[in-house]
Amino acid sequence: MAKKTLKNVKMKEKKYLKSEPTEEEITNLLNELFPLCRSLTGEANRKTLSILNNIVPIRRTEIPTGTKIYDWVVPEEWYVKDAYIETTDGARIVDFRINNLHVVGYSVPINKMLNFDELDEHLHKHPSIPDAIPYRTSYYEKNWGFCVTEAQYEELKANHGPLRVVIDAKHINGSMTIGECLLPGESKREILISCYICHPSMANDSLSGVILTAYLAKTLSCMTNRYWSYRIIFVPETIGALAYIAMNEKLIKEISFGIVITTVGGPGRMGYKQSWNITHPINNLVEDTFKECGVEYKVQPFNIHGSDERQYSSPAFRVNCVTIFKDCYYDYKEYHSSKDNLEFVNAAQIIETYKVYNELIKKIEAREVYISANPHGEPMLSRYDLYPKSGGAQTPGGSESDDLEIMLWVLFLSDGQMSLEDISRRQKIKYTRVKYCAEILERNELILKI
Ligand code: ZN
Repeated sequence: MAKKTLKNVKMKEKKYLKSEPTEEEITNLLNELFPLCRSLTGEANRKTLSILNNIVPIRRTEIPTGTKIYDWVVPEEWYVKDAYIETTDGARIVDFRINNLHVVGYSVPINKMLNFDELDEHLHKHPSIPDAIPYRTSYYEKNWGFCVTEAQYEELKANHGPLRVVIDAKHINGSMTIGECLLPGESKREILISCYICHPSMANDSLSGVILTAYLAKTLSCMTNRYWSYRIIFVPETIGALAYIAMNEKLIKEISFGIVITTVGGPGRMGYKQSWNITHPINNLVEDTFKECGVEYKVQPFNIHGSDERQYSSPAFRVNCVTIFKDCYYDYKEYHSSKDNLEFVNAAQIIETYKVYNELIKKIEAREVYISANPHGEPMLSRYDLYPKSGGAQTPGGSESDDLEIMLWVLFLSDGQMSLEDISRRQKIKYTRVKYCAEILERNELILKI
């Protein structure tokens, strides 16, 4: 019996350690998920979530086609059975079955004999990489198109006679799938972690982010003494994020801050995109994490392009979101093309970024954030015997008047967002002294830990 108990304990420890992914696990997932023809809706998205469900439990919600979401409407599901361009003697020059990027996303069906001149306006080439297939979509405008390499384009152009152009696609009423994993902590305050699941066969944008998010969720779910609550979501970009926001408006408005995870597996340098309000503490936290990990990093100021931080940070919600990346979208030449593949991305690169996110989570968990119990102006400190003489006055290297000054700052800055470390940094006061004064205030119930 005793042996059995010991074995159980060992298994538990092992489970906790196993929350960190191995290269083999990530490689297998990359291989399994990469070929799926994900889009805004459809079975490939459901399959992606059900595969990720083996890593961490993900609850799925279906939002029917036609549902209005703010200024947007959930589209139909889109499926391609086959798509190709072939010569009259049956030679396929372009074939969807070889690469799903060959068909413009949401293309309407077509089955016609066309001359090259008629076909040309429906062909897309990569602007700078001749042998890349570009990624293009036409979600909201009924159109069709093929994405081709330079060589395929030239071959089509050189072909004498008509070409058979086939997109055997259907658009059906269905639903858009979103996934969520809620991990409550000791505090009800929430952190949002969001990634997008709508990209077909590209590895850095966005598959690397989806995989990293799933493993980070697993790591968090294995954390026994979680302090913060985490809301982790897997959504199609833009419309999926907006659908989630629309269903949870009140909750989103109360989110402390967010992390949007994407493009985390490239060979290039790491960096982070700052949140819309540069003074938000999450920015310093990310920079401290990079420094502690010994990682040289780029800083990308917030801009209005990018991913779903645009939605979460919009005027009605103003959630501050950061993204830690390794080859950020837009910055690498393979972006949105067939060259963003499993040669460009590998498990070791994703794990490098995972480690930084994991350290960030540890720093988030270690934060000591208070909120003033008297947020409507200054409390009457003399009632607590803290004014004009500060209680205790035993701080190392400090005087009573210094203590009062620090306590006033802690009261003023404890808004539920700034941690004691943030206050120490901002006011250039030693952390130990801020902590000492915060303890006095906490004992007097003038600040409350959130
Ligand atoms: Zn993208």
